[in-house]
Amino acid sequence: MVLTDKIGRTVSYLRLSVTDRCNLRCMYCVTKDFQFIPHPNILRYEEMLRLVDIAATMNITKLRLTGGEPFARRGFMDFIAAVMKNHPELDLRITTNGTLIEPLVPELKKIGVNRLNISLDTLDRETFKEVTGRDHLNDVLATIEACLSAGIKIKVNAVAMKGINDKELGSFIDFAKENPIDMRFIEFMPMGDDTKSDSRFWSADDILEQGRQHAALEKIKVRPENHGPARMYSIEGGKGRLGLISPVSSHFCATCNRLRITSDGQLRTCLFSDKTYGLREILRNPDMDDDAVRMVIAEATMDKPLGYHLLEQRSSGCEGVCETQMSAIGG
Ligand code: SAM
Repeated sequence: MVLTDKIGRTVSYLRLSVTDRCNLRCMYCVTKDFQFIPHPNILRYEEMLRLVDIAATMNITKLRLTGGEPFARRGFMDFIAAVMKNHPELDLRITTNGTLIEPLVPELKKIGVNRLNISLDTLDRETFKEVTGRDHLNDVLATIEACLSAGIKIKVNAVAMKGINDKELGSFIDFAKENPIDMRFIEFMPMGDDTKSDSRFWSADDILEQGRQHAALEKIKVRPENHGPARMYSIEGGKGRLGLISPVSSHFCATCNRLRITSDGQLRTCLFSDKTYGLREILRNPDMDDDAVRMVIAEATMDKPLGYHLLEQRSSGCEGVCETQMSAIGG
């Protein structure tokens, strides 16, 4: 079964959030009114494994595990191992803030994790504390170093924010020069109850122009299955590369191939849409089988929206659009 939508897009990539809990309190992600999902509503790992089994029968070929902070959930290592054992054919990726896992790196490597996305918005300890509310920069840097030593490929993702980390562009480029990493900037997306986003917005084009004042950057061709919508640049004399992701200034809705399932089993067909399709109730209903889950996923995919319309509505002041906090969706 191949998942397609009304405008002919094919969906083959699922992002599954294993928890909405996180040990960081990033300023753009966990705002003061944020409420955690009640524990009984969070899917058990067996339920998530069943969802992965179902997804694998629907032409999902790439799976990303995310959160909240996925490694903050107890048993996550065993869950990764189970997914890898049951579905060696899946291209499994994991997104983490990297704060908790330096000691786990050898085990990660042993169970077959060969790449990780690590979120890191700043290389400055004070700014890290300001952005995340916690003092964990050194833990993240130690994780990156341990991964590189163990042969785990690293993409570092920074949310680009004017007035917060724009002054560090040169340091980030140097970091990618010195380390064999993909250093990627993602444009700040106005979501949830964050209202300060406009002043913070720093476009991918501006980052590129400013980056070129620091180093010679050459656009390189990359495989979309590895880099999604990121534009990648080599850095003269560098071991690593620079990447730019522009969901706001140059959206990639036309080629979006993603679905998301939140940790409480809500299917979302677009990051910017607040519409959810409940899978948990079906999974927990003994009278409903896998086909019932498949039917909801297929029907929901058919109606997958073009998210940039929703972003436009939000930026023109429309209430009730892109309301969900990223930590609940899973990024
Ligand atoms: N805890 C994991 C981590 O830190 O990568 C996974 C969850 S986190 C919600 C996933 C990604 O979403 C992070 O890279 C985070 O910076 C990014 N993110 C959250 N809110 C965002 C926003 N408004 N715009 C752009 N990226 C955002």
